[in-house]
Amino acid sequence: MLEIQTIPVLSDNYSYVLHDTGSGKIAVVDPPETGPIEAALEAGGLGIDWIVITHHHMDHIAAVPALKEKYGCQVVGPAADQHRIPGLDLLVREGDRFQLGEAEAQVFDTPGHTTGHITYWFEDERALFCADTLFALGCGRVFEGTMEQMWESLAKLRALPDDAIVHCGHEYTLSNAHFAVTVDPDNDELMDRVAEIEELRRDGMPTVPSNLGVEKRTNPFLRPDDAGIRAQLGMAGATNAEVFGEIRTRKDNS
Ligand code: ZN
Ligand code: FE
Repeated sequence: MLEIQTIPVLSDNYSYVLHDTGSGKIAVVDPPETGPIEAALEAGGLGIDWIVITHHHMDHIAAVPALKEKYGCQVVGPAADQHRIPGLDLLVREGDRFQLGEAEAQVFDTPGHTTGHITYWFEDERALFCADTLFALGCGRVFEGTMEQMWESLAKLRALPDDAIVHCGHEYTLSNAHFAVTVDPDNDELMDRVAEIEELRRDGMPTVPSNLGVEKRTNPFLRPDDAGIRAQLGMAGATNAEVFGEIRTRKDNS
């Protein structure tokens, strides 16, 4: 069994502590600072065996040297970004597997936010770690790749089962929700979700992780083929990548 703890870090990032209870192995996903992670580990009397990295941005890797030094752990991350992520011990890419004790993750290349961004999918545990590719009701900004690449990455994640649990890299959900309704105003499930999110955030509660089935039905960045969204954007005949690109550009300018 994989126990997963969500750890709020910095102002709006999420790291995750993974505990494979069968083997006792521990991993930390995308640590930008040590304090909150060490507090979570010490509460459980745990060490770290692996640091799991999705992409090179500092808000996901800054604590790697300090944690490596303190715990003597190993670091797994994207082969494509080895030149700009210090301390990687195991390089992975699409089709590779990462083993945490008895738990096994498949690796997907998910370029777009950065060219080397990867996503980890623990199929048996239904746990997806997609950092800044797919957010709750949103997606990452397309900094390094093309709109076509980012859409292909999101389409790859959309093909996973509805009961996948989406562990993303940021608490951006409220701002994403207010944008989502501008492109998908007739989606009743989205309206209900926005109300839920507003209530959670009013109470200072996290909206992450989320459920992939719900994302497929309410996240506009996974829905460029939806007739209602296409009508709203006046893009009935466009490709999915074009509709996605228009939605992403509108969000950037909102
Ligand atoms: Zn990032
Ligand atoms: Fe980030």
